[in-house]
Amino acid sequence: MSLQDYQRDMEGCSRCSSCKWVPFNQVKSWRYAHNCPAVSRYNFHAYSGSGKMIMGLSMLTGRSELTEEVMNIIFSCQLCGACDTACKVYRDDIDLMEVLLELRSHCIEEGELLVEHMAVMDALKREGNMLGEEKDLRGVWAEGLNVKDINEETAEVIFHAGCRYSYDPELRETIRETIKLLTEAGVDVAIAGATEYCCGGRAYKFGYRGEAENYADDMLSRVKSSGAKTLVTPCSDCFSAFIYYYPRLQKELPVEVLHLGQYVERLIAEGKLQLKQEIPLRVTYHDPCYLGRMGEPYLGEWQDNKLLRPMSMKRAGRKGIYDMPRRIINSIPGLDLVEMERIKEYSWCCGAGGGVLEADPDFAAWTAAERIDEALSTGADALVTACPWCLKMFRESIAESGAQIGIYDLTDLVLESAGIKEPVAVKRGGF
Ligand code: SF4
Ligand code: SF4
Repeated sequence: MSLQDYQRDMEGCSRCSSCKWVPFNQVKSWRYAHNCPAVSRYNFHAYSGSGKMIMGLSMLTGRSELTEEVMNIIFSCQLCGACDTACKVYRDDIDLMEVLLELRSHCIEEGELLVEHMAVMDALKREGNMLGEEKDLRGVWAEGLNVKDINEETAEVIFHAGCRYSYDPELRETIRETIKLLTEAGVDVAIAGATEYCCGGRAYKFGYRGEAENYADDMLSRVKSSGAKTLVTPCSDCFSAFIYYYPRLQKELPVEVLHLGQYVERLIAEGKLQLKQEIPLRVTYHDPCYLGRMGEPYLGEWQDNKLLRPMSMKRAGRKGIYDMPRRIINSIPGLDLVEMERIKEYSWCCGAGGGVLEADPDFAAWTAAERIDEALSTGADALVTACPWCLKMFRESIAESGAQIGIYDLTDLVLESAGIKEPVAVKRGGF
């Protein structure tokens, strides 16, 4: 697909500005009524979903050019999908998210490149990860673990750790213990360890479609040769890449793809795992954009009049994964879940997505701080999430501000309640 394929969508924008807000019947207060980090931060219509579509149409019809300034606005966006979900409440014939993705690859095709993204892409080509870490250190997290190697043995389940979990020293123990949990539950699991690569999802979001395709091809050939039936990942970013970007690239993985939380629920249902240890904590849950709105599978392109598109072919972010984490939290003894105002498909972003963390870290941090403020307003002891990028953003925000709230990975709660992980006392102000 190209930007041109979405001309009707861009022409259809009625300039109603609904894409800037949580749909009005879902608003709980004026304070948390905004949904788009970009327009909330920069306060010009151009930064909103609608503004970006107007710029796209203007370029497409030769009324304006792709300048550096326009490119900077296009990339001032977390690709969080909140605008698409809000727009579709009123105009479900417009695929705003697809336009935002096409605008990015249009920039790359036209040679308008962000220097910050070029540096990350260079590191990706060199080291096979988005963090610029050494390729040789990717497998360090799994050293000494008694687990199958995907390159040497077949297995029922492939565990894909992802770049952030593999390299972030604060997260490595979580995936080591996850492998322990899976093997103790009798799961036939294998990892790629040192030979695992980036899923390519962030390259896709940066607009570098060719690079993303190479990583998808690599993943596809590994999965095919592994003989596995299921791929499990603890990373929401990778999960979204597998179920949304890969099919968009026509590189669908020939296996069931599950977020770790979904697989945990399956183990509980099969009686292979019990969450018995009490965790006395009042928590609130942050829906990662890439497990929620962007955790809804790609449905293919609708070629005819979108007004006649059946509901089953409309992708609006409402069918993402929202209930699973809440069910897990509610099943752990002692945990008390209190909700923020913007939740599920109306959730506010953590700030890291869409290459914003790499290109505009201040904007990313501002977005995270806004979410921490909302979490504090619930009176919760801790904020729980299910994405390593959200965790990074919130940990740094709490460390910076000294906000009186802890931060938890949903996986750590599972590990602790299953008796795999030592109980961690929540220290207010982060830990
Ligand atoms: S909600 Fe949709 S139709 Fe309305 S301004 Fe935003 S993009 Fe345009
Ligand atoms: S994807 Fe998110 S940040 Fe980007 S324009 Fe839409 S709501 Fe704003």
